[in-house]
Amino acid sequence: MTSTPTAQSCELSSALFERARAVTPGGVNSPVRAFNAVGGTPRFIGSARGAWLTDVDGNEYVDLICSWGPMLLGHAHPEVVAALQAAAARGTSYGTPTEGEVALVEEIVRRTPVERLRLVSSGTEATMSAIRLARGFTGRDVVVKFAGCYHGHVDALLASAGSGLTTFSIPGTPGVPESSTALTLVLPYNDRDAVTAAFAEHGDRIACLITEAAPGNMGVVPPDPGFNKFLSETCREHGALFVSDEVMTGFRVSASGQWGTDGANEGWTPDLMTFGKVMGGGLPAAAFGGRADVMHHLAPEGPVYQAGTLSGNPLATAAGLATLRLADDGVYAHIASVADTLRTGIADAFGAAGVAHRIQSTGSMFSVFLTDRPVRDFADASTTDTVAYGAFFHAMLDRGVHLPPSAYESWFVSAAHDDRAVQAVLDALPDAARAAA
Ligand code: PLP
Repeated sequence: MTSTPTAQSCELSSALFERARAVTPGGVNSPVRAFNAVGGTPRFIGSARGAWLTDVDGNEYVDLICSWGPMLLGHAHPEVVAALQAAAARGTSYGTPTEGEVALVEEIVRRTPVERLRLVSSGTEATMSAIRLARGFTGRDVVVKFAGCYHGHVDALLASAGSGLTTFSIPGTPGVPESSTALTLVLPYNDRDAVTAAFAEHGDRIACLITEAAPGNMGVVPPDPGFNKFLSETCREHGALFVSDEVMTGFRVSASGQWGTDGANEGWTPDLMTFGKVMGGGLPAAAFGGRADVMHHLAPEGPVYQAGTLSGNPLATAAGLATLRLADDGVYAHIASVADTLRTGIADAFGAAGVAHRIQSTGSMFSVFLTDRPVRDFADASTTDTVAYGAFFHAMLDRGVHLPPSAYESWFVSAAHDDRAVQAVLDALPDAARAAA
């Protein structure tokens, strides 16, 4: 079955975008929302419920962005809304400790291998603080990361690889001084030889290696089997900390995140982990945590400073706790099966249209690369046909499906993606895949 695009008006979105551009750079508060990669006008959303977004012009879309990951249960879940309303009525921020913070931390400690956890407000803060703590704990300065892994807009991590595998990196954006990335090594993902060479040359200076537990920010590029274990062991051999960034995968790819699908089975644990997105249930909450002996180095117990006016905010902890408590095995089984159905429909549609494609996933997170080669690192990911993706994206949007407006992102589904939402995506796919041909 194919679908005919509905004549969408986006007059009100266009007018809002004009207003926004007059007062905000690019008209958006985070770059990828701008449609720069695919062209056109971003839709301004007026409301959302379950799996659906409604824009200010009244157009409805099946949401496959899910706020870039957080909306595991879908939008405006009644129990999350009720928890938020109750919390708001008790006051929105006190600057003193609350029971909600303890309960959220306990829930995360129960699901993951972390022994101690500190709440913050964004994934960027979590990774920035984890690196500072790793440096403070080890007394070393060098940080290792992988090309294509995004850990938020931390100066030291907005780095591009230097001229050789073991040479230090250069700033990845104007505004980051060379001194901020001069202690960062950027390596190709899934490349054991590069990791071995970097540690052989700089091992006694490396404070930590940070990696997305399963990268989703160059599209989904799963770790080769045993790769995270190898990283963990290499760090241990050299006295460096292994920092697993689960901001995107945490509580999404399984109840205990990516670690639940590899670390738990292979018998290793990260020294530090970072979380965000799902744990805030759509509000700003994030965290970093790990080994108790490392976390004891944080102020006020230890000398490494870190703080936050709104850390553990009562609204954010209420939404996060309600979300995690509702995220049971049934939720994970449902989103896994929705993702499976969509992946099959996508493969069929691109296959029928004769478009080279590659679908890669970890748990229910998946992405579609328009390339004919397996994607194991950023260089492979960069072969995706971004022009064809733009055509596909707009054809889906015209048919009422909102994909990420960039070819290098994961697609997300939620517990609220029911048969009607899934069918709407499947109906839109054949024509949209042909648009990419
Ligand atoms: N780490 C990962 C793996 C992420 O995907 C992101 C955001 O997408 C971040 C860190 C930064 O999180 P935030 O946008 O909340 O600062």
